[in-house]
Amino acid sequence: MQMKTPERAAFDALDHPTVVVVGGGFAGLEMIHRLAGKPFKVILLDKNNYHCFQPLLYQVATGSLGADSIAHPFRRTVGPMRNVIYRMGEVLRVRPEENCVETDHGCVKYDHLVIATGTVTNFFGNRQVAEEAMQLKSINQALDIRSDFLQDFEAALYLEDEHEQRQRLNFVIVGGGPSGVELAGALAEIRRTIVKHEYREMHNERMQIHLVDTNDAVLANFSPKAQRLALKYLKQLGVKVKLGMMVTDFDGSTITFKDGSTMESNTVIWTAGVKGRPIPGIETAVEQRSGRYRVDALNRVEGSRNIYAIGDIAQSTADPKWPKGHPQVAPVAIQQAKQLARNLRRKTGSEWVPFKYREKGSMATIGRYKAVVDIGPLHFGGPLAWFLWLFVHLMSIVGFRSRVMVLTNWAWKYLSWKNTIRLIIRPYVRKTAVAAEPVQG
Ligand SMILES: Cc1cc2nc3c(=O)[nH]c(=O)nc-3n(C[C@H](O)[C@H](O)[C@H](O)COP(=O)(O)OP(=O)(O)OC[C@H]3O[C@@H](n4cnc5c(N)ncnc54)[C@H](O)[C@@H]3O)c2cc1C
Repeated sequence: MQMKTPERAAFDALDHPTVVVVGGGFAGLEMIHRLAGKPFKVILLDKNNYHCFQPLLYQVATGSLGADSIAHPFRRTVGPMRNVIYRMGEVLRVRPEENCVETDHGCVKYDHLVIATGTVTNFFGNRQVAEEAMQLKSINQALDIRSDFLQDFEAALYLEDEHEQRQRLNFVIVGGGPSGVELAGALAEIRRTIVKHEYREMHNERMQIHLVDTNDAVLANFSPKAQRLALKYLKQLGVKVKLGMMVTDFDGSTITFKDGSTMESNTVIWTAGVKGRPIPGIETAVEQRSGRYRVDALNRVEGSRNIYAIGDIAQSTADPKWPKGHPQVAPVAIQQAKQLARNLRRKTGSEWVPFKYREKGSMATIGRYKAVVDIGPLHFGGPLAWFLWLFVHLMSIVGFRSRVMVLTNWAWKYLSWKNTIRLIIRPYVRKTAVAAEPVQG
């Protein structure tokens, strides 16, 4: 029999209810912070051993930040929390009748289960596009994009034919929300600075960035003023914005739109939507279209007594100001976690307080000195918005070291454009290339 360390023995001996938190994103991480030092035994389960700050994924994808700047190891977070432990593992099923979750390493028992598993990319059922397009939801995917565009630059230099070179350097981003807009702006700046100075043998205007959206405006959830400004900034950077266009197919080299028109490109990056990927076991509570768990005003999963969902995976229609559900953004995830933790800490018998989202504003950046901000009645853009964006994101990153790293990288980048994270460390291999490889033997 294995001897327990005193630390582990002390954790096991705690005579408190066990809260299992699945997912250490914005919601799960806030949850464990709020329960640390409180009368609970908390077990955090995540398939990755780090928290990922998704709002800056596009900066990893475009070589402005290294992956470790936006990731923070869970063990570092839970180290000082005596009543919290972390286990790396993917939760495969919930067994509500036994109060346990099944992971790829075994079962974990709970008294309260908090599901905070976030979302995955939504291709709206288009399997061919899902096969071929790139995504921006995880660090792995961001690193794939980074390698891919750098490989494209290198390969383009070998191409004599202008048409082939343009096809190789045609980048199409689908989805004009904040992720798509920010990525398009960052790629346009790469063309203006890096390509111009470091790929001198290449005509930089042969690199084109297209941003496609079915809506009539970019940043659909922002104010009309922010939308207009964002469009202006994108055009100033030379991004070709195609509004009211729907991508219906992409075979790896040709994109087809709903109106029958086509465009040649090797690279489509899909940022057009997300959906929940619910864990099997409590299917009856899943909203089919969004893949999210229907929850009540207390974030309790429909039909359950002790299972809660928070963050992007939760869909509540109980908040009077948000009858269609809350937006899938970090502040909602954080506020829901705070409220649920407060409720869990209430004395037995006292009434729980329903969740109400307090919207603080929205912001998106579109290159150096260009950003748009909506805060209450204020809608503005330009350098002030950009500095505000920098400040808010810098302060939100988990970990002092990461903050210092991000600040240093940004300062170096925006002052000199000489950051050197543009490394192809793990080359990206397209699925079609793998499929085309001759079978050995
Ligand atoms: C590119 C991009 C840019 C964004 N920009 C902004 C922005 O500027 N501002 C903003 O407010 N929001 C932004 N968002 C949205 C924001 O990141 C999400 O709303 C937020 O991450 C939701 O938090 P969450 O805790 O619900 O889920 P997540 O942060 O997605 O965390 C989910 C966690 O669950 C884990 N997990 C999933 N399934 C399992 C499983 N079965 N078993 C174990 N672990 C599992 C994952 O590893 C992950 O750690 C952006 C999102 C993206 C993708």
